[in-house]
Amino acid sequence: MTAATTRLAGAARGTATEGRSPEELRDLVSHVGAELELAPAEVIVEWAVATFGDRFCVTSSMGDAVLAHVVSRVAPGTDVVFLDTGYHFAETIGTRDAVAATLPLTVVTAEPELSVAEQDAAYGKDLFRTDPDLCCAMRKVEPLERSLAGYDAWATGLRRAETRNRVVAPVVGWDARKGKVKVSPLARWSDEQVEQYVQDNGVLVNPLVHDGYPSIGCWPCTRRVAAGDDPRSGRWAGTSKTECGIH
Ligand code: SF4
Repeated sequence: MTAATTRLAGAARGTATEGRSPEELRDLVSHVGAELELAPAEVIVEWAVATFGDRFCVTSSMGDAVLAHVVSRVAPGTDVVFLDTGYHFAETIGTRDAVAATLPLTVVTAEPELSVAEQDAAYGKDLFRTDPDLCCAMRKVEPLERSLAGYDAWATGLRRAETRNRVVAPVVGWDARKGKVKVSPLARWSDEQVEQYVQDNGVLVNPLVHDGYPSIGCWPCTRRVAAGDDPRSGRWAGTSKTECGIH
């Protein structure tokens, strides 16, 4: 199967079939999380694909392609949603393009309603400085919710080892705000397991990871961190903000 890319801006992707109701989805996963808690990532993805079919997608911030690689082995052709905020490093866009070119997946690029120039005109220049929560809401949260409209379940590369906020992240959970099933096949993976998988499988990694950026977001809100520091300490450094609101 060949790789493919799709661009999504301003409207939800509408190719998937009609899905289950939120109540059906919530009931469906109410006991599954515990059953899959100790399952390998591949088995968790197999369950998600068998349960949701083409109403299952993956999201990736293109820090690395570990989850995308796992999914490409289990279910070639799966959609990978990437949020192009308009503020990404060139290396991140390059990683997205490399994933699309080399893995048998369909990379779907979701864009905000407003371009950066339009946002500057409407809200003032550099909203990321004056109101980063609003900037994230318009450039990340809304585009993700819009792009997930055609799916019942989404997989993220979220891991419990990343931050204190994520230590309770379920392998399979109910995202009440989105009305979707959220699957985190790598939730139990340590940093060492990620590195080992990358080495064993020659997985694409954003080159910035090896240049002092272990956690990569938009360039205005991401700084280099010193070796040994909290990997996410470079995100919104100097502010109390720690998450963009999509998790
Ligand atoms: S991370 Fe920064 S630039 Fe990116 S959407 Fe959030 S506030 Fe805006």
